Amino acid sequence: MSIRPKKRLGQHFLSDPHHLNRIADAADLIPEDVILEIGPGTGTLPAVLPSRAGLVVAVEIDRDLIAHLRQRLNAPPTLKLVHGDILDVDPTQLITEHAGRPVPYKVVANLPYYITSPILRHLLEASPPPTLIVVTVQEEVARRICATPPHMSILAVSVQFYGEPRIVHRIPRGAFYPPPEVDSAVVRIDVFPSPRVNVPDRSLFFQVVRAGFGQRRKQLRNALAAGLRLSREDITRALTHAGIDPRRRAETLTLDEWARLTWAVAEVMKGDTP
Ligand code: SAM
Repeated sequence: MSIRPKKRLGQHFLSDPHHLNRIADAADLIPEDVILEIGPGTGTLPAVLPSRAGLVVAVEIDRDLIAHLRQRLNAPPTLKLVHGDILDVDPTQLITEHAGRPVPYKVVANLPYYITSPILRHLLEASPPPTLIVVTVQEEVARRICATPPHMSILAVSVQFYGEPRIVHRIPRGAFYPPPEVDSAVVRIDVFPSPRVNVPDRSLFFQVVRAGFGQRRKQLRNALAAGLRLSREDITRALTHAGIDPRRRAETLTLDEWARLTWAVAEVMKGDTP
């Protein structure tokens, strides 16, 4: 069966064994591992994974590819192909169903780039999340995920709240068919058993972060007052209480500072002077 890549589904296939093995190596696979793969595509990654892991559950949205995979891979018992949209399934529940009981699992995937951030959020917010995530993403996105102050973004804060990301390998665009417009990089995210910082309420934490980054290059005092609909006085008080100069910009804050700020904003919202 010949496969015509569908651009709208982010289909760029990787078949070079060198790069595929580097992705698998980055996941430190052992025979007991349970793996969730997102977008198996033409089946090149599932071809190297099941021999190294105990169980691979691969979710693919494209019905044509599922048919192709069933034919091509002669599905070994350790590989379960699931037709569906990863954003519509609870990843942890899916793994539990296939493993027969709740088990820790790793994610290994060459992600469809048009939904990189939603997929990462979906995985990191799963309950419990995977213990390790190894994903191929656009190189520029990989750098953003791993950024440090003063180059932080919502994406960097969101990923680093849950885990420790690092770039482990670079893949030039020419290694894919069809080649994407940019180079790619493999990011390994070691997920923490619980978030890196202690916050009063996770949704308030992300509300504060979104508000802070809401108006690019604005001083925090102004961006937060607008985004959280609080007075400049209240926000200035919260920032000062958290030990953060109100004139700083969101890109410069550390995770600890975002957490301290969330506690101070929670106090202001309750009407208590922090
Ligand atoms: N893993 C293959 C490889 O390395 O050659 C394919 C990678 S390709 C970049 C992304 C894959 O994700 C495609 O097979 C695409 O059909 C699939 N995909 C796109 N959106 C998806 C979604 N929402 N849920 C599951 N799979 C999706």
